[in-house]
Amino acid sequence: MVSNYYTHDQVFTLQMALIQQVVLNSRPGENGEPVAENFRTEEGYLPQDLLEGQVKVCTKYLSVDPYMRCRMNEDTGVDYLRPWQVSSVVTGGGLGVVEESKHQKFQQCDVVTSFSWPWQSRAVVDGDILTKLDPQLVGGHLSYFLGAVGMPGLTSLMGVREKGHVTPGANQTMVVSGAAGACGMLAGQIGRLEGCARVVGICGTDEKCQVLVCEMGFDAAINYKRENIAEKLLEYCPAGVDAYFDNVGGDTSNTIISQMNQNSHIILCGQISQYNKDVPYPPPLPPHIEAILKERNITRERFMVLNYSDKHEAGLVQLSQWLKEGKLKVRETVVKGLENIGAAFQSMMKGGNIGKQIVLVSDE
Ligand code: NAP
Repeated sequence: MVSNYYTHDQVFTLQMALIQQVVLNSRPGENGEPVAENFRTEEGYLPQDLLEGQVKVCTKYLSVDPYMRCRMNEDTGVDYLRPWQVSSVVTGGGLGVVEESKHQKFQQCDVVTSFSWPWQSRAVVDGDILTKLDPQLVGGHLSYFLGAVGMPGLTSLMGVREKGHVTPGANQTMVVSGAAGACGMLAGQIGRLEGCARVVGICGTDEKCQVLVCEMGFDAAINYKRENIAEKLLEYCPAGVDAYFDNVGGDTSNTIISQMNQNSHIILCGQISQYNKDVPYPPPLPPHIEAILKERNITRERFMVLNYSDKHEAGLVQLSQWLKEGKLKVRETVVKGLENIGAAFQSMMKGGNIGKQIVLVSDE
């Protein structure tokens, strides 16, 4: 016999919509490599009714990024990032479509993004965290808003423009580490577009080297896991290095810095080789590398894309234009399914991606 009576909890649940969500399951420890099992997928519920100012969104794409490794620690080590809490829903860069809105800025079917997007199939969020996007900027290829026409694109563009000191016609050579990743791949191409005569990439597989040279227009690429970086740099950068877009830090960067020219510039974008270690950011350099910076007057200023928010809008228009003109080539590595996001993060941190690592949550 079917009961017509429900407990209070059952009635409450019936008024909520079932969703999938990803929570932090455990921390990797300050010196541990992150693994997929640091995350777990659960069922959750969304309230049926929105409050004033709230928006209900359906998640299409989520971004996994190296900075998230810091958020897995109890103390992120930097003041602009808060740690994720164990058993709480993870948040990061995401993009989706508005299903319902009680916020004046948004209406149904708007495409929106946020840096604080919950790792959920659907979510009810405060509309103030959302930014409306114009799909025409990416020719309808919405995931590009998390890559080439999003934060990684802006990072590469602002990094080159603000810290690279690239001068057209000056016959400069740029070296990019982490060159086959989201930022690196774009940084090399932008270095060329902004006037570098020669661009050399460093990355972790032969396949990535081939993509950089054959598809992205790099002059040469070095597989740091197989080749001698110092020897190859002498061969590929006969006039030395004028600008270094540094995504990785550690030994690779020390080797490159050793071949940098007088009055050259480091774009200090990231130091991923050090993110699984309990060291301050940016990690200190060995004394002999510090000495080279001083002797050769090499600049190495800290760079953060978030510090240039006044230039972001124009930057996105520039990136979109280059994309449409075919001047900026894009690669993505797309993993399907919210339940695979932990594995996608682990893979990206170990070099499993070519171009931007994206998670496709829903293609509805
Ligand atoms: P990504 O390059 O797409 O992915 C990370 C890549 O790092 C992997 O594919 C892997 O490629 C490489 N890697 C991992 N461990 C390494 C190691 N020990 N040594 C050398 N390379 C290693 O990631 P992304 O989002 O573009 O970020 C790249 C860098 O930019 C990160 O350091 C990130 O923190 C930084 N970033 C900074 C800002 C800013 O405002 N300053 C903004 C965004 C990103 P391989 O196969 O080549 O090893």
